[in-house]
Amino acid sequence: MSRIIDGKAIAAASLDRTASSAALLRERNITPTLAVVVPTDDEGAAWYVRSIARTAAKAGIDCQVHKLPLPTGRSEIANRLSELSREPAVHGIICQTPLPEGVDLPAVGASIPAASDVDGASPQSLGMVTAGVAGAFPPATAAAVLEILKHENIPLRGQRAVVVGRSNIVGKPVALLLLAEHATVTICHSRTQDLPAVCRDADVLVAAIGRPRMIGSDYVRPGAVVIDVGTSPTEGGGLAGDVDTEALMGLASAITPVPGGVGPVTTAQLMWHTVRAARAASEQPQQQARTHRSGP
Ligand code: NAP
Repeated sequence: MSRIIDGKAIAAASLDRTASSAALLRERNITPTLAVVVPTDDEGAAWYVRSIARTAAKAGIDCQVHKLPLPTGRSEIANRLSELSREPAVHGIICQTPLPEGVDLPAVGASIPAASDVDGASPQSLGMVTAGVAGAFPPATAAAVLEILKHENIPLRGQRAVVVGRSNIVGKPVALLLLAEHATVTICHSRTQDLPAVCRDADVLVAAIGRPRMIGSDYVRPGAVVIDVGTSPTEGGGLAGDVDTEALMGLASAITPVPGGVGPVTTAQLMWHTVRAARAASEQPQQQARTHRSGP
């Protein structure tokens, strides 16, 4: 039987650790603070931002939501991100997607300094993660994939990992993090030839495509671990992953569900990154101004 990995439980354990670290910072009058810039009135984004705010409250993190007046464009978004990066009280900054038409994330994400870029939106952060340089955060979703694999004690060293998807925000950083764990990594995309055969080589298969239930039994070798990052809205208002979970039951050794898999762990990682950013800022003498008093 295949094991269904409980992302909610992994997220809850991670949030507990984050809340303890946040409490220690609060004892030092440092309030870990996350600023979320929202540049559209997309309903899905609004739902996700509410969920971030709720999770932040549980972890002892202040969450500021900055909804930009619409319509907005590249320079307004970049300016707001730059302003927030100069705010001493703000430790983590994210720019909520989707972005307005014609604006891409690397262009505006470049306005967030690596130390506050808790969702790895800046090309500088991706470069630092690639080079293995400390002080940058990978995107929270990529970090969540690794958190799940580590939590589940899935061996990675010397194992074959296949990542389907090569976006800057998921596929590429997941592949880099797997490489850092000494997996032998293959990255696939829409032009990969005979994708099922490449995927069948995987001990660990990560699907980050955005095609509902595309990964069926012909993509998975017996015993493989399958991590489903995909989230596509369904007609009934739900979410579908990239993996046909039913078809893989009894074939894969473990699978993350959608919903309840990578999603909650992603939000928890965002909180952990914010607390780490607050802690790092408090340890930098020249950035002492970033700390601020909580309460009266
Ligand atoms: P994206 O930028 O659209 O990238 C999708 C990738 O999939 C691209 O690299 C694309 O290849 C590849 N692809 C598309 N069709 C393919 C096919 N038929 N065969 C092989 N590869 C194919 O999407 P993304 O931002 O990376 O997100 C991927 C999925 O993860 C989406 O469903 C998104 O909603 C979800 N997501 C979930 C979370 C979470 O927290 N759970 C967070 C972020 C994203 P090309 O590069 O060749 O076009």
